[in-house]
Order: sequence, then C-alpha cells, then structure tokens
Amino acid sequence: MTESSAQTDSENYVFTGREKEKNTEIAKCPNCGANMLFDPEKQLLRCDFCGTEQAFEINNNEEQNFEKLFENNNTWSEETHVFSCSNCGAKVVISKQEISKACPFCGTSNVLETSELAGLKPNAVVPFRISKETATQKALNWARKKFFAPRRFKKYLTHADDITGTYNPAFTFDTDTVSTYHGRLARTETYTVRRNGRTETRTRTVYFNISGVYSMFFDDILIQASSRIDQKTVDKLQPFDTNNSKEYAEEFLHGYGASQYTRDGKECWGLARKVIDKRIRSGILSKYSYSYVDYLNVSTECNDIKFKYLLLPIYVGKFDWKKRADKKSKIYNFFVSGFNGKVVGKAPVSPLKVGILTLGIMALVALAVWLGIKFI
Ligand SMILES: [Zn+2]
Ligand SMILES: [Zn+2]
Repeated sequence: MTESSAQTDSENYVFTGREKEKNTEIAKCPNCGANMLFDPEKQLLRCDFCGTEQAFEINNNEEQNFEKLFENNNTWSEETHVFSCSNCGAKVVISKQEISKACPFCGTSNVLETSELAGLKPNAVVPFRISKETATQKALNWARKKFFAPRRFKKYLTHADDITGTYNPAFTFDTDTVSTYHGRLARTETYTVRRNGRTETRTRTVYFNISGVYSMFFDDILIQASSRIDQKTVDKLQPFDTNNSKEYAEEFLHGYGASQYTRDGKECWGLARKVIDKRIRSGILSKYSYSYVDYLNVSTECNDIKFKYLLLPIYVGKFDWKKRADKKSKIYNFFVSGFNGKVVGKAPVSPLKVGILTLGIMALVALAVWLGIKFI
C-alpha cells in the first residue's frame, strides 16, 4: 500500500465518507437485535435504532496497591483485541466482537487486526459524559477563534460528525512522602558604606546552610500512558475528576475504542517520580528566601503508593489539510475532553491569511514612512 493511496482513503473518509460503518458491539438490543452503545449523557447502554435503554452496574473504583503494577498480566485481552493503522501507526484496543474500524487519528479505513495483546486491564474509567454533538460544537467554537486557520477548517467542523470518542490510557499515583534534605543557598544583600564623606551602596553574597525533613502527600498525579497524545495536551485537558472515577466495566467501551498504551506502569511510575521530586524540591525551597541554589540534596521515601490504571474520555478530531495542490497533505489532530468539553490542538495556518496580514502591515509601514518624510 503506497502512501498516496492511503491519503486518498483519508480524504474520502474526512470529506465524503459519512456512510462509514458504525461500531459493532457485543451487547445486542433485546428489542431489535442492534448493537447497544454507551450513552454519555444518560450513563447507560442505549439502542440507536429503537431507543431501548439498559442500565448496568456502575461502581466507584478502588485504588490498587503498588505491587500490582508489576504483575505481568494480560487480562484485558480476554475481552478486547488490538487494531493497528497502516497509515499512521496508531494502535487501538476495541471490544472483541467489533470487526473493523477507521483509524481515529488519521481516518483511514486501512486498519488491521494485530496479534498484540491489550495488556493490563484498566481498573478505572472516567466515562464519557458529553455527547459527540456537544463535543463537535465545542470544537467549532474553538476553531472559530483561530484567526489564522483556513476557512475550510472552520467550515469542515460545522459538520464534523466523525470525531471519534477514544479512551486514553493513563496512570494516576498517590503517595505519602518524607524527604530529608541538606544544601547551601546564597542570598545577595545590599549594604551601604561611608567613604570620603559619601554613602555608597554595595552588594555581597551570603551563603547559608539548610537542612531538615519535609513531608508531602501526593494525590492522583496523572501520567499519560500513550504516546499518541502528549502529556502536555492531557494536562491542558484536565481536570478529569479522577478522584470520582468508576470501576472499569466492558460496557464503557461500547461505541468507543481505547488507544493502546505505549508506556507501561513501571515507566509511568518513573515519570511520576520526576514530577514528585520536582514538586518536593520547590516545596523545600519555597520555605527560604534566597537568590540562587548552590546545591540541594534531597532523599525521598515514597510510602503507601497506590495507583489507578484508568481510561480518560477524549474525542479525537482530525483535519486533513493541503497547503497547495502539489503539496503533501498533513493531518491536524485536535482533542476534546469528553468530561469537561475543553478543546486542545493545533489548527492549520492559512498562507493566504498570513499573506494578506503581512501585506497589510507592509502597507501601514510604507504609509508611516511616507507620512514621516512629508512632515519633516
Ligand atoms: Zn433496538
Ligand atoms: Zn491512522
């Protein structure tokens, strides 16, 4: 499969492929036999065809002990399988009964089932609670504020019914920390001296040693487990109210795929440690008044570590943008939180709009110069 034909697929999907297949799911409607999908606004399973609704048990989840993070289990594989996109490489975990699906990130239908296992089963989920229609409206409002985005981008979003709800895997960690520290800080002081009958101001650097014990509790430090969406984007989409997440149940996946994790629990804990260490350092330093740090050694003990491996609700949007007819197209992804409706992403920049603005500025500068010459 060549790259150019993959792009053609993608264009078809983005602009004309509204007839693309709906997700097929395991839960069948008891009334008409169609697939039941998770309804984000009602938090139950609902049949799109006849409107039959079916509630399922939703429980609050419990945090897991740290040791469980190192268990090598693949229990999620019993109910899911992993599809891989031949065009952009995205890997999506979907419910086992589902046959095929377009890639949520680039839109091609060129997705193949892999033999990969889904890995650790999530123990928690923040369910989608805003509908696709609402998410699309939020994305449209966001796009309208992008001054330099091409008109086609804003127009496209008015009928973008193909943003895809795709759960994003993440870990949260809790821990109670105790740190001992010692170091040396420096303070710059000004002082005055009398010389030859005049007052002079001078500066000097004063070093002072610090040491002590510092305690800090961390609650739900969120670490992104998939490289498809970067940590910064997920941070901007927060909060997800992970403290009120629900116990994972297969029903939440009905109608929604999940990105495959690319960082396991151990790696994510390593990243969480970096966040923890940084916050402890700045917590310690905030107690002192200083100009710069000569050195600071901190030794931290993390006690009572708990984690959640959870799915976060994110609508993935895509826009296929070609600057010029002869140029390769580029996919712009944007993301809408399925929990709070926040939108984060990069919009394409229209060369035409930038050109017009540049010309406008040049004209103003020329006018200013001309006026300047005239009135001198
Ligand atoms: Zn039905
Ligand atoms: Zn793709």
